[in-house]
Amino acid sequence: MSHLRERLASGAPSFSFEFFPPKTDAGERVLWDAIRRIEAVAPTFVSVTYGAGGSSRERTVAVTRRIATDTTLRPVAHLTAVDHSVAELRQIIGQYADAGIRDVLALRGDPPGDPGGPWAPHPQGLNHADQLVRLVRSSGDFSIGVAAFPERHPRSPDWESDVRHFVAKCRAGADYAITQMFFDAEDYLRLRDRVAAAGCDTPIIPEIMPATDVRQIRRFAELSNARFPADLGLALEAARHDPATAHRIGVDHATALAQRLLDEGAPGLHYITLNRSTATLEIHRNVHTSRSAPAHAAVH
Ligand code: FAD
Repeated sequence: MSHLRERLASGAPSFSFEFFPPKTDAGERVLWDAIRRIEAVAPTFVSVTYGAGGSSRERTVAVTRRIATDTTLRPVAHLTAVDHSVAELRQIIGQYADAGIRDVLALRGDPPGDPGGPWAPHPQGLNHADQLVRLVRSSGDFSIGVAAFPERHPRSPDWESDVRHFVAKCRAGADYAITQMFFDAEDYLRLRDRVAAAGCDTPIIPEIMPATDVRQIRRFAELSNARFPADLGLALEAARHDPATAHRIGVDHATALAQRLLDEGAPGLHYITLNRSTATLEIHRNVHTSRSAPAHAAVH
């Protein structure tokens, strides 16, 4: 299997989907239903988030390994440094390698229970994502992704240090980055310009989250510090008792954002699915259809 780095350098936009490890058997069935539907559109890769602790982490490893063995999909394993010694991190990386998984998204993570609380590294662990990138790089032939923040990481005091640390983790050996969710294309474009001005050409894949449920998306936006557009919020509030309209509003907004990003040269799109496939596959189809349509069709 070729490296994601080479795939991204090929010029054709990648498209990928993100899942989380479910807690229950019912959640597991919903996840696998989504995985099978998404498998049918042959994405570039899919990724599985890494839990804050305990059993959810084992479920991440189990789901990622099952995707590798039971599907045609290319799984990217998220991994964080939270509460892990370097020895434990090496062990998890080894488990992935044994299952033939060669793609890791290397993240620092946040304090469990209070994502905004004070960060303390494990006594035998790592302090920042650049160190995890180096650890994965030294553990074998992996493609490595890192996180990027179009609205700046909430802990960064200013843009200068945010971009400097981002570039440092790219230079530590990252092949690509995936952003935090955002709703305004300008935020992504400004980040990309800042990173390019710092002399770094690591591809930055924007993350797209369909806003079809106003309460859910506001909670997610708050957790990730993403500014939620007032007009989108008002439109979704007005459609609160009309799920079909809310769905269309969210899909239309995300489609327009995704199309603008690709028009501006984004190297791909990474969809947050929340383990459902309907909205993200609709956006994917909209974007794909409009881009493969003959030029004159775009006039309408
Ligand atoms: P870092 O790159 O270490 O950055 C954290 C902060 O420290 C930033 O302010 C940065 O500027 C600063 N910094 C970086 N390096 C240095 C340095 N050497 N010296 C001083 N300061 C430095 N979390 C999960 O728990 N599980 C997941 O699966 C998960 N998936 C994610 C996927 C994506 C696409 C994104 C964008 C985020 C994800 N997160 C996940 C959240 C992420 O773990 C948090 O946002 C975390 O706070 C930052 O992680 P990071 O890898 O960017 O950390």
